Amino acid sequence: MMYSRIRFSASWSITSVCNYDCLYCYRYRDEKILEVNEAYQIVDRLYELGCRKLSLAGGEPLCWHSKNAVFDLVSHIKSKGMLTELITNGWFLEKGDLDVLKGRLDILTIDVDSLCDQIQFQLGRPVGHIARAKRLHLYAKKLGMKIKMNTVVTSVNFDCIPEMCNYVREAGFYRWKIYQFMPILDFSEKERSLIVDKNAFEALRKEIEHEMENGAVSLVTENNRQMADSYMNINPQGVIHTNRIRNKEQIIKYEIGKVSEVGLEKMFSHFAFDEDKFLRYHQMSNYLFV
Ligand code: SF4
Repeated sequence: MMYSRIRFSASWSITSVCNYDCLYCYRYRDEKILEVNEAYQIVDRLYELGCRKLSLAGGEPLCWHSKNAVFDLVSHIKSKGMLTELITNGWFLEKGDLDVLKGRLDILTIDVDSLCDQIQFQLGRPVGHIARAKRLHLYAKKLGMKIKMNTVVTSVNFDCIPEMCNYVREAGFYRWKIYQFMPILDFSEKERSLIVDKNAFEALRKEIEHEMENGAVSLVTENNRQMADSYMNINPQGVIHTNRIRNKEQIIKYEIGKVSEVGLEKMFSHFAFDEDKFLRYHQMSNYLFV
């Protein structure tokens, strides 16, 4: 395998700080903030490794240093020739910010788990989240950005997912990603009450695939097994990590090593990383976006 020829996408949680407190959150709890110059070095190194689409996530990415620092980082990623994605809860984002990001940001992703405020509130998102997300979706689309929505399926919002299909079609999303809630090993009983049984998730997946078939939206649904050991996640300190399912369907996070020190060969040889899955889901030539 010629690792130097692989072109892939990666996701980087640039901060673990967040203004929301979602019940299902599995972000890193590390308050140390990476310096701006270190962040630029990580971007450069990821480019060298073959990364051609970099998603900035969190925590809430806009809690990293300042909005301008995040926007400048997006510009730097774009200037390397990579596709740029911002995965945000949208709370700190105004229309004027999207004007600034025009031409730098390729994909704006705002997570919405239900179109019902009460259900979102039960999951830990503030009232107003949906209205704000919708305003931003509309405006970003008007500016020519691709808009994407991530939805986590839990026991709380399970019944709300089918009624989201119309909105997804009408708002003009290029992609809708639906994930099965992932129970991390050290989650509390309350968090574990969000678990959706794998058969129920598969039935929902079929229903949504049927509802969305032949449409313009690229629908991606991922159960826990598909999500595990395939994502190249980078934590706020620039360390690559992945998730692996252990006995009783529990998920454990494994750190693989710093972006600055680990090459693809070492990443793929880690026991918690599945090279085939990574190439199937995250290699750019298999990627539906371009
Ligand atoms: S918005 Fe995202 S990072 Fe923030 S608490 Fe919710 S899931 Fe976690």
